[in-house]
Amino acid sequence: MVIAIPKLRPSSILGPIHCALLAGPIVESLGVLVLTFGWLGPLVCAPVTVWLLVTPLLRTTVGERIFLRTGRDVRSLSENERTLLVPVAGGALSRCGFDWDRVDWYVRSREMSVNAYAAGRRSIAVTQGLLLGLAAGALAPEHARAVLLHEIGHLEDPSARRRLIVTWLTGPWYFVQAVLVFVVRGLVAMSPLAKGGLLLLPIATAIAFVQLARQQAWLSVALLLTVLTTVVVNPLVDAAVGRRAEFAADNFVARAGSARQLAAVLRERDCESRGGLGALYARHPSTARRIEQLTAAGFLTIQSLDG
Ligand SMILES: [Zn+2]
Repeated sequence: MVIAIPKLRPSSILGPIHCALLAGPIVESLGVLVLTFGWLGPLVCAPVTVWLLVTPLLRTTVGERIFLRTGRDVRSLSENERTLLVPVAGGALSRCGFDWDRVDWYVRSREMSVNAYAAGRRSIAVTQGLLLGLAAGALAPEHARAVLLHEIGHLEDPSARRRLIVTWLTGPWYFVQAVLVFVVRGLVAMSPLAKGGLLLLPIATAIAFVQLARQQAWLSVALLLTVLTTVVVNPLVDAAVGRRAEFAADNFVARAGSARQLAAVLRERDCESRGGLGALYARHPSTARRIEQLTAAGFLTIQSLDG
């Protein structure tokens, strides 16, 4: 039996908004590449063409494997790790009606918490902590299976599957943004003056808007607006899409009959709920919200949580 990802509310306009907003960081990434390789002169189109041509390749098995092995902090399973994982992963896959070949398994060897990550259409990386927990008997196989089922659920979710391509297309801009944030944080930590300057940033931005509009520099206005949207609005929508994907993957686990085991792992991990703006920008719902959602959907009862 193949377990279908439950449909989220069909009235949601979050998906189309999310896709439309991606145009901003993609155009900005194009700008970053043009500026970075501008010294090539007319040949600047070469790196841009490579960047664009790689995109459809990421939808292929070979492309995804190359991306995962070169661009991410993961490695392939050793023989011992494979032996350890096969019974648990095999159990999770068979519950979904999937063959072993449906998924490429990797390890995040620097991460010691019990966790796993899905990427693209067929890749799941388990943490070293999950493997060590299984080997030491500290992590019950049925709990590990619930973690893996959650990741398989992500592989079945179109919004999560697109993330690899989105990461590639928006990567140049977000890399520059991360460097800028790092530099600004460093300056703020070193100088109270810089902190004061940061507080004036919204006012300076508003003045820039007014000045540009007065000069009818509409292209500059559009660019400034795009950057502002990317920095402020995109993470909000991205986080909301991420939280919905988490709930969908949790439902997938529950339909596979492992809701109680997933709840046990979540409670063990216990992600703190962030309040205010932090909650809006969080890509993962709090443990309490996830358990609440499973309970509301009828997958958990108070008795099963206590047990
Ligand atoms: Zn997840």
